[in-house]
Amino acid sequence: MRLSRYYLPTLKEAPKDADVKSHALLVRGGFIRKIAAGIYDFMPLGVRVLKKIEAVIREELDRANAHEVLLPAVQPAELWEESGRYVQYGPELLRFQDRKGGHFCFGPTHEEVITDLVRRDVRSYRDLPVILYQIQVKFRDEIRPRFGIMRAREFSMKDAYSFDVDDSGAHASYEAMHAAYCRIFTRCGFRFKVVEADTGAIGGSRSHEFQVLAESGEDSILTCRKCGYTANDEKAEIPPPDTLVATDCPACEPPRERVHTPNQRTVEEVTDFLGISPKQLIKTLLYVADEKLVAFLIRGDHDLNEPKAKAMLGASLLEMADEATVRRATGAPVGFAGPVGLEVPCYADWALQERGPMVTGANEEDYHHRGVVLGRDFEVREFADLRIAATGDTCPRCGTRAAYDAHRGIEVGHIFFLGTKYSETMHCTFLDENGAEQPAVMGCYGIGVSRILAAAVEQSHDEDGIIWPMPLAPFQVNVVPLNMDDAEVREVAEQLYSTLLAAGVETLLDDRPERPGAKFKDSALVGIPFQVVIGRRGLKNGVVELSRRGDQARRDLPVAEAAAEIIEQVRAAFDDHRLPPDWVYDPSA
Ligand code: ATP
Ligand code: MG
Repeated sequence: MRLSRYYLPTLKEAPKDADVKSHALLVRGGFIRKIAAGIYDFMPLGVRVLKKIEAVIREELDRANAHEVLLPAVQPAELWEESGRYVQYGPELLRFQDRKGGHFCFGPTHEEVITDLVRRDVRSYRDLPVILYQIQVKFRDEIRPRFGIMRAREFSMKDAYSFDVDDSGAHASYEAMHAAYCRIFTRCGFRFKVVEADTGAIGGSRSHEFQVLAESGEDSILTCRKCGYTANDEKAEIPPPDTLVATDCPACEPPRERVHTPNQRTVEEVTDFLGISPKQLIKTLLYVADEKLVAFLIRGDHDLNEPKAKAMLGASLLEMADEATVRRATGAPVGFAGPVGLEVPCYADWALQERGPMVTGANEEDYHHRGVVLGRDFEVREFADLRIAATGDTCPRCGTRAAYDAHRGIEVGHIFFLGTKYSETMHCTFLDENGAEQPAVMGCYGIGVSRILAAAVEQSHDEDGIIWPMPLAPFQVNVVPLNMDDAEVREVAEQLYSTLLAAGVETLLDDRPERPGAKFKDSALVGIPFQVVIGRRGLKNGVVELSRRGDQARRDLPVAEAAAEIIEQVRAAFDDHRLPPDWVYDPSA
């Protein structure tokens, strides 16, 4: 591609809302442009990278016997009513009506549509297993779109769905997709972790996330140093404590005491004011679970894990109580709730089982209680694992104490074992060997195709711009003649350009009448792996200069050998990312 004829408008300044590096660099480098909150244009360079990612995905999924389909983005509401998710999915689902008043939504995911497709054609156990996938635009009306295309509202996703005759078949499909994902993310050049995950709104019983390690990641991942157990902190389980006795004799403890805490609401304010550690405080968090008010009691230095709380109650909707509800239930504004005398069922994290007298809110404005004792001053309906795991916690697998290392991650893929959740409600059945009707056992598997672009930039950039890993690079070589007006420079550049193109190397020729400084700046910003500089001075010595983006080293190549050498280096760089067919992912590597 000739840059003089290409559409590559680069920018000096990052957009004001760019809060992560990838967002700034992708906009400045002319890959994407924002059109509305969470909605982006992909420009020619951006599209080239998307296509690279898609090609890797297609190759690996085809190898795993998955077949590509293309399902509609606009979906009839009836299908979502059948699965029960039309209401349950909440405000992230973009719903609208057509001219006849028919109800539709823009697909945020495609379980309903694919289940409907498969139920119409699959009749017998002989038709299964089936794995289908598509690469398509999704829309989710995210409450907080941010970080550019990392958390967008409209984004490109690869979604796949498997249908099997039984659990063991479905687990085999799950394993095959798990393996394909490891290959895909390795081929993309990522440093990533496979983590046990919460199943969230999609539902199901088993789930893994593929997390690209990056400081800017929204997810927090915990890995046990001893046994390697790795989980999203939303999911990481915490075993019950060894000591279950709060205090030997609750009645023998000194009586609780009401203390004046004017305007002290947060854990920090109250503990500073009273000169105590957050470990000595109980946070009382009021929630509405399926329209019933409940209270969660959590130690001051811990955080409530909402997915765990929701799962423990078996609730389908769990929301923090609003101010008015808190006032009605406690008689006090937010910040002074406590379990003593509270007529709401209390569920406590089991870290509170091993604690002595504690400080709690007094259900009275500007007051707390000191010396509150479990079993004497208040009762708990149930103890459970309710908090977000942190580095100090014990590993649920091997029992090592303070076991966890913490990392930040960007979720680029997510796989779920669904079981028969959708096939039962939507009657996606087949006849088994005995002629009996059975629901198909399903799995679903997502990859954030456009998010991968952002994740790759987060993992690989410097102050000057992006450093694309070879397999995702929009072009492989950037040929930079320093002065197109110089006949010899122009001729060598044109010759090199056409030789590289003929060899199948994706090459950009910066034939713009720009100053060298501007060309170098753009070249670094856009991040093409190889750069060849052709200048008057070099040509006097019969050489051009080859460099690798992200590497300070420069090498002079004799003009006559330049093309062959560059072609060889590009091949070798690709070879670094190839995987043999029998390659298996090693989590400890
Ligand atoms: P998240 O927790 O990040 O919201 P999710 O669990 O909702 O993700 P899935 O429903 O599993 O995501 O979707 C599959 C993949 O699609 C995710 O792993 C992620 O890579 C990508 N994805 C999800 N939401 C977005 C978004 N708003 N913008 C870009 N990519 C997204
Ligand atoms: Mg989401």
